[in-house]
Amino acid sequence: MRYGLFSDVHSNLEALEAVLKAVEKEGVDQLLCAGDLVGYGADPSGCLSLLKEKGVHSVCGNHDAAMTEKLDLEWFNPQARAALEWTSKQISPMERTALENLQFVWQNGDLTLVHGCLHEPEQFHYVLNLSDARESFRLQETPAVFIGHTHSPGIFIQEGTGFSFQRISEWLLNSRCRYLVNVGSVGQPRDGDPRACYCVYDTQTRTVQLRRVSYPIEQAQAKIRRAGLPEFLADRLAYGY
Ligand code: ZN
Repeated sequence: MRYGLFSDVHSNLEALEAVLKAVEKEGVDQLLCAGDLVGYGADPSGCLSLLKEKGVHSVCGNHDAAMTEKLDLEWFNPQARAALEWTSKQISPMERTALENLQFVWQNGDLTLVHGCLHEPEQFHYVLNLSDARESFRLQETPAVFIGHTHSPGIFIQEGTGFSFQRISEWLLNSRCRYLVNVGSVGQPRDGDPRACYCVYDTQTRTVQLRRVSYPIEQAQAKIRRAGLPEFLADRLAYGY
């Protein structure tokens, strides 16, 4: 089985289109998204309908939860909150219901998908370091777990009682180890590289590849400015932070 995985689309249609185009060339069997379909960007409905059209299965991110009763807007910083208030007025009742129906965790035999961390997934804890990763590994039931939320791609590895982190773009999975893979962000990368992130997980070759693809950033920025969203949300796309 070959999976195409990505996360944190954040209403950035230009980035999502570039990722889907790149992933289609990879010949994947299933497309999965680790949440935060909306928020920050200016094209929530465009992204939601494209994700639906392509049959992408998603879990619930904190920005998605904020469109429902599941999470209070107080949770967010002022710029994120402003974008969520705007998003809430843009999406249709059907789109809100689709966000409401997203599960916090999705699992099959090969992998688990969760937005932030397996520990209290509905609290959206960030996995920023080895000690955060350990909390998630404690609850991990599949060889690999795929997350987003921090917008910074990389692979946490557990081998026995040892934990490590790698920013490497291609990894051969060892059956003695367990993996917690952060697939980065499609619509708002924060690791200093503005290109959109995605991941290919192949269970046959036992490889995880973290990939990047360029997209027309200026178009996404222009839409954010035209919508009257905070200027910073447009600016940061160019820096990848
Ligand atoms: Zn996010």
